Amino acid sequence: MRSVEFRNGKVFWAERPIPEPQKGEVLVKVLYAGICNTDLELLHGYYNFNGVAGHEFVGEVIKAPGHEEWEGLKVVAEINIGCGSCSWCLKKEPRHCNNRKAIGIKNWDGAFAEYLKVPVNLLHKVESIPLREAVFAEPLAAALEISQQIHLRNSDRVVVLGDGKMGLLISLALKTYNPNLLLVGKHQTKLVIAAEQKVRTFQLKPPSFEITQVLDEYNGKFDIVIEATGRPEGINNALELVRPEGIVVAKTTSHLDFKVNVSKLVVDEITLVGSRCGDISLALQSLKEKRLNVVPLIEDCYPFDKFEEALARAGQKGAKKVLLQYS
Ligand SMILES: [Zn+2]
Ligand SMILES: [Zn+2]
Repeated sequence: MRSVEFRNGKVFWAERPIPEPQKGEVLVKVLYAGICNTDLELLHGYYNFNGVAGHEFVGEVIKAPGHEEWEGLKVVAEINIGCGSCSWCLKKEPRHCNNRKAIGIKNWDGAFAEYLKVPVNLLHKVESIPLREAVFAEPLAAALEISQQIHLRNSDRVVVLGDGKMGLLISLALKTYNPNLLLVGKHQTKLVIAAEQKVRTFQLKPPSFEITQVLDEYNGKFDIVIEATGRPEGINNALELVRPEGIVVAKTTSHLDFKVNVSKLVVDEITLVGSRCGDISLALQSLKEKRLNVVPLIEDCYPFDKFEEALARAGQKGAKKVLLQYS
């Protein structure tokens, strides 16, 4: 099978044998995959990654030894593979397992290949959702995770920073919990995607793009600030906007070191919440019930053969979700 490997910041095509699923695993033929900022980070050295990336995908189960009921089904998958026996795994939270693997991220080959192996207990059946939309299950679960971590009340003043893929998805996903939430970004073309789905938006004005513009426009600070800019300075901007004793949710991961204004955090007694992967079944339910429309978040869809072009497109400033279609 054809596969793409990231090695030392470069992309290589490799011909590999189709993986053989062991007991408890299934073989998935990839149908669509999404390119995520994490993939771009992995290419540039995040996690010292070398191998086959790709953790946002939809596929068809081809072989499922001992679990034949899955064969022929369209699926998405959780990405964290725990050891199965530590206290986190026993609590069904393998994402914090010390020995965890993660599909396409850590010690487990991902979906930038025609086939991959997936543990059967990570599978979710995809039904009544167009496959291109189901690719969003993983990032949407990460967006919805915020609703599972903090108590979002309708009366809270909530702002989401960043009109990139994650910021848009978060604002669309969380408007059910807080219909008045505000999305702040720099790009009219992006903000309009959220506005069309009834999210309030504010465009920072050039040349300064000063975050204090938001405070002037909306009469002061916010109870909850969700930072999804993907930028090193995002976290300090979030700290500027949050009220004393408020909550900042951090969604940005980066291979760059960044400085956080800890004094501000201490003096204002702010709660900082890190937020990563979420519940795929919740995301699938949202997509099935059409609680949000992810189609406008698709930048373009490339055949898998054009991986380099797709990757370059995904890496362009302001690019939305780039999808790959496998034959
Ligand atoms: Zn991702
Ligand atoms: Zn474990």
